[in-house]
Amino acid sequence: MKKNILIIPGDGIGQEVTTWGKKVLEKIGENYGHEFSFDEAIMGHTAIEVTGNPLPDETLAKAKASDAILFGAIGHIKYDNDPSAKVRPEQGLLKIRKELGLYANLRPILLFDELLDASSLKPEILQGTDILFFRELTGDVYFGEKNRNEDNTFASDLMNYHRYEVERIARKAYDAARTRNKRLCSVDKANVLETSRLWREVVQEIAKEYPDVETEHMFIDNAAMQLVKNPKKFDVVLTANLFGDILTDEASQIAGSMGMLASASVGDGTGFFEPIHGSAHDIAGQNKANPLASILSAALMLDISFGLQEEAKAVTNAVAETLKAGWRTGDIANAHTEASKVLGTQEMGEKVLAFIK
Ligand code: NAD
Repeated sequence: MKKNILIIPGDGIGQEVTTWGKKVLEKIGENYGHEFSFDEAIMGHTAIEVTGNPLPDETLAKAKASDAILFGAIGHIKYDNDPSAKVRPEQGLLKIRKELGLYANLRPILLFDELLDASSLKPEILQGTDILFFRELTGDVYFGEKNRNEDNTFASDLMNYHRYEVERIARKAYDAARTRNKRLCSVDKANVLETSRLWREVVQEIAKEYPDVETEHMFIDNAAMQLVKNPKKFDVVLTANLFGDILTDEASQIAGSMGMLASASVGDGTGFFEPIHGSAHDIAGQNKANPLASILSAALMLDISFGLQEEAKAVTNAVAETLKAGWRTGDIANAHTEASKVLGTQEMGEKVLAFIK
């Protein structure tokens, strides 16, 4: 198979972890006889420094021409501390999602048994958890009209959804539920928000097309609580952009760390694969970042964009073998981990590569 993959490392630890996602794709290409060619592009703070634009035209053109994109993260402390900055790294990420029509963000909560004790939750609560989140990605308050009055005493973000935006992601989530345990929980705030009432109405209609899938509707506040109380109750979770952003960070604790969670953003064209974490200024440039989320994002690319399930499995198995052998990065180590088993980004990446069959 011939594929043209664009690597966008972005900022901070994005640069460190994406190196390993790419190396894994190269190794899979060699081992399985695929011709993967790679190009690279800039985005976020790194792109602002060079071009003044968080998503340069050249990056967007390369993205549109590629078969799939492996992305790192964007963000820089300078903007976090200056909310008034007009040009911001995250504008690049929001724009590329919109331009590529990436309306569905899939976030599998993949729980490796070896990491049961890395979570802050009790192992007996976690064991057997397997959740697939579908977060809507191109609507909601993130894209609604933003306002601030002149004397800075009022600001607003418009939360809005069109029926078609809910329909298309709901269908994707139901299709996935059919291939899993046939349970779908739609999370909203329909008791308060008009957008959520439309969301619930549309999901109820789509549910009729999938009588074999059991549908549950849950308010976001309850879902946030249930997720840590009894995560096993969830199979597919379907939710809007803002709720999904927050719930999946919470769910990362089920997998042990933000450094473990991969995601796939898909629409009708090029897929975009990235860890759910950000640029992590606190550990950037220190060889401390966990590269597994980027490596697992590469596995999602193989599976979802290229239909290479066996190759994807070879990557997740290599991650499992690495963990089984006791290797950890700092974020997934605990009080019982021997110091000699705690590795840096590079050393952890090398272990996974060595386990790829
Ligand atoms: P973050 O995800 O960068 O970090 C949160 C915490 O998790 C930090 O303590 C960090 O050290 C840890 N962490 C994250 N990834 C890790 C990894 N791979 N290995 C080990 N530890 C890891 O979130 P934040 O601190 O809220 O934001 C930092 C910057 O990232 C901000 O500028 C924010 O805007 C940006 N951000 C970007 C994205 C994205 O690019 N998709 C997502 C979230 C935040």
